[in-house]
Amino acid sequence: MSYLMERVSYLKGLTDGLEFDNSTKEAKVLLEMVSILSDFAEAIEDLDDEVGELDEYLDAVDEDLDDLEDFVYEEEEFEFDEVECPYCGEILNIDSDFFEDGECEKELVCPKCNEVFILDNDECDESEEIIE
Ligand SMILES: [Zn+2]
Repeated sequence: MSYLMERVSYLKGLTDGLEFDNSTKEAKVLLEMVSILSDFAEAIEDLDDEVGELDEYLDAVDEDLDDLEDFVYEEEEFEFDEVECPYCGEILNIDSDFFEDGECEKELVCPKCNEVFILDNDECDESEEIIE
């Protein structure tokens, strides 16, 4: 039981102990007030539960969003590589699928100046250096 509910219960116990004459106007007002306080305490307790659930839900969404961000940014890093055209200086985005497996260099046509140049596969160079 929440602190509020405990206090309302205590108050109810006190009023019960007074053995009111329930027909008096004062007793009716007092009992109605205790009843309203009890409703408030219950409503607040329900709200508190709902906020707690929302909080958990939000944490879960936040975690999912983190995963999604990691996934998206990793994909971006993985998918594109920037290369500068040696002829006109245009920055070209190279798809990760550009090189075939094990292919260390490949001709590339610059879409801006139409010059052809050879692009080295960075990963290939690194693995060759390790072997040598
Ligand atoms: Zn170019």
